[in-house]
Amino acid sequence: MWDPLGHLSLFIIRGCNLQRETFTEKLHWDSLVTDPLLTKWRSWEEELLQIQGTEIPRPFRSRQDNGEPSLVSFSDASKQAKCAVNSIITKYEDNKVDTRINVASTKLSLQKTISIPRLELDAFLMSIRLVKSTLKEQNLTIKNVTIFTDSMIVLYWEKQPSSCYRDYIAHRIADVQSELKCLENKGYEVEVRYCPTAENPADDGTRGLTSEKLGSKSRWQLGPKFLQEPESKWPTVSHEEEKIPDVNLEVRKKCFTWRQKVQLIKIHQKQVFTQEINDLKERREVSTKSRLKRLVPFLDENGSLRARGRLRHAPIQYSAKYQIVINGNSHILQLIIAKAHEETKHGSVQHIMNETRQEYSIIKLKQGVKKHTQNCWFCKRETPKSTPPIMADLRRARVIPNISPFTQVMCDYFGPITVKDRSITRRSIPQWGCIFTCLETRAVHLELANDLSTDAFINCLIRFTSRRGTCTDIYSDRGTNFIGAAKELQKNLHKEKVINTMYKNGIN
Ligand SMILES: [Zn+2]
Repeated sequence: MWDPLGHLSLFIIRGCNLQRETFTEKLHWDSLVTDPLLTKWRSWEEELLQIQGTEIPRPFRSRQDNGEPSLVSFSDASKQAKCAVNSIITKYEDNKVDTRINVASTKLSLQKTISIPRLELDAFLMSIRLVKSTLKEQNLTIKNVTIFTDSMIVLYWEKQPSSCYRDYIAHRIADVQSELKCLENKGYEVEVRYCPTAENPADDGTRGLTSEKLGSKSRWQLGPKFLQEPESKWPTVSHEEEKIPDVNLEVRKKCFTWRQKVQLIKIHQKQVFTQEINDLKERREVSTKSRLKRLVPFLDENGSLRARGRLRHAPIQYSAKYQIVINGNSHILQLIIAKAHEETKHGSVQHIMNETRQEYSIIKLKQGVKKHTQNCWFCKRETPKSTPPIMADLRRARVIPNISPFTQVMCDYFGPITVKDRSITRRSIPQWGCIFTCLETRAVHLELANDLSTDAFINCLIRFTSRRGTCTDIYSDRGTNFIGAAKELQKNLHKEKVINTMYKNGIN
């Protein structure tokens, strides 16, 4: 079917939907279509023949007078499909109005479980893009553009900054706002308005109407009846509706009042701390077995359970001084943590805990916060856990006990450090520290070296061995002075005196 302007899209979408239904049944090419599908297909096929007689007039105006054209766009979405319809309105000087369908577009909705408000937002974006392409292609001098949607939530979302929402909505809201801005920059006067579902022509596109309802006087072709009236009589949102657009989480969050919060907390406390509240109402002390005993709880004027604490004289708010008691592992705690998490802009566990403690005293708070942050993809991405490398085996000396201290040592230099000379001059001279650590006991011995020479190290070593006893193994980082000392030892090893001394001291 050749339908570049989408005038028959409300009929074609039914065929598309039928095709998708056959795909979801996973039928093979040669297998027969099931009965319910076949019946639908046959009726669609019959209507296809009837559609041949449908006429859609090409001119947008029925008269030759000079009229002012303007563009209106409608959008709607259902679980099956999304639809956007554009109509051209021409207003004549005698207040008569001509309306004609200009272009329409329908698309099947994604089969994933996406909520209706989100689909409505998709359709709304689709209608803005359709408006943009229409204005680009039409030769009419259009100035006013009105975009209608029947979704109160979309109208609400469209006015908020995109950063208020999560990915799916945020991306689309950002697109909607930039497209609207782009239209305004081009000099069009764009208005976003509400249209009741019953009068929305795009609604026909999402349901897929039969060919009979596609006539020249149908809502699809002429648009809703209110378009014939002056703009002041077009539908608007009542104040009641504006306050609570829909039972949607994002919107509900904003409408959450202080009174509702107190009510929710009281219900939670009544469920979890029944015994404690009864005790306090009867002016008894809380049982010693109670988890709240340590918090010294009391009931405030609203009947909420609060912890007494020790901050009575602190110049801080009442809610911080006497925190409301909340039990861990509860849904309300999840909400409180989620709010703190959002307010601290994905802060650390300690930061979130501090934020919640400004108002609540929560049992098992840390566990709750950790659980919440572990499930947050943003926190996961920002604070990845490094995988520790596999470490080498510990040296024998580190794991074999009962060797006397400083038998096996490691040594290194540090410094230079400034040391006062003991001579008469009392001048400050640079010296290096030589550190010996025992591999078994981790004990430390410090020596002072005059410089980084081999002789200075040998002197340090002699002083060290004289004080702590001889050692069997010395490990170092192969500094030149250590290597020098080692070479010196190697050179003298053949001398009988040295060998005897070493033998006596047990050096191998
Ligand atoms: Zn986070």
